[in-house]
Amino acid sequence: MRFQRTIKNTMAVEGIGLHSGRPVRMLLQPAAAGQGIVFIRTDLGGVEIAAAAENTSATSYATTLSRNNASIKTVEHLLAALAGLGIDNVTIEIDGEELPILDGSAAPFVRLIVEAGIQMQSLQRSTIKITKPIFVREGSKQVALWPADSPSISYFIDFDHPLLREQAMNIPVSEESFLRELADARTFGFLSDVQMLQANGLARGGSLENAVVLDEQKVLNKEGLRHRDEFVRHKILDLIGDLSLAGMPIIGHVVAHKAGHSLNARMVKKLLEHPECWTVIGSPAATRELPQEAHYQYQASL
Ligand SMILES: [Zn+2]
Repeated sequence: MRFQRTIKNTMAVEGIGLHSGRPVRMLLQPAAAGQGIVFIRTDLGGVEIAAAAENTSATSYATTLSRNNASIKTVEHLLAALAGLGIDNVTIEIDGEELPILDGSAAPFVRLIVEAGIQMQSLQRSTIKITKPIFVREGSKQVALWPADSPSISYFIDFDHPLLREQAMNIPVSEESFLRELADARTFGFLSDVQMLQANGLARGGSLENAVVLDEQKVLNKEGLRHRDEFVRHKILDLIGDLSLAGMPIIGHVVAHKAGHSLNARMVKKLLEHPECWTVIGSPAATRELPQEAHYQYQASL
C-alpha cells in the first residue's frame, strides 16, 4: 500500500523555454492530497491547467496541455521528475507558456524536489494494473502495455545515425532506478534540423547548454554524453512523463520502439478508453496508518 506525496516547501526556479526561447519563472508548491498536478498561468489571471490526459492539446516535439485558451508547453521533463519520485500532488505557478528547459534533462527538477523535501500524505495512492495487453502503432513506431506484477520499461531505438542505431534499455520503474539511471539524460536533436525547427518557431532557446546536439557523425557538445546510451534513456524519461498523464501510476510492462510524445499520448488515450484492460488498485480513502517518510539523496553525474 502506498500513500500520496507532495513536497514540503515551496521552491522557485527560473530559466528559458526550449522552443519559445523566453525567460520564465516557476514556483512549485505543496498541494492537498487528491488534487493531482496542477499548473497555474499567473500571467493570464490564474488559469488552472491540470496535468491530465483530457488537457493534452499538442504533441509535436514536446507535450502541451491546454484549457480555456491557455496552454502550458514542454511539461514532460517536470512530469517525469514528479512521477519518478512518486509526487502525486503539487501546484505549479508559472508566468509564461513554456516550462524552463534548464539542462534538457529532469535532473534540475529532481534536485529541486529533493531540496524541497517530500511530504507523505494520509490518502492512499491508486494505481492502474494492466490486465490485458494494449498496443498503439504508427508505421515502425510502437508502444505496448503488457500485464506484469511490477512496473518496467523496455525501449528500443534504431534511428538512421551512427550513434543512434540499436540502442536498447530494459529497466524496472522505481524511484531508485529513475534517480540513478534516467533523471540526468538530456533531450537531443540534430544540427540539420535546427534551422527547420527555428523557421517553425521551435527550438529558439535550444543550445549546447540544454540539449545534446548531433551532426551527421558525432556529438557536438564538448562535455560529450552523460551515458553511452543517453538517447534511449531520455526517450524513457519522456515516456514516463507522458504516461503520467493517465493520472495514476501504471503497473505493467511498457515495450516501446522509437515512440515519441504523439504516440505516448495516443497510448494514454487508448488506455483510458479501454478500462476492460486494467483494474484500479488502492482506494483514495483516508487511513489512520502512519505513512513512512521518503528521503532521497540526489547527485547527478555531472
Ligand atoms: Zn524530452
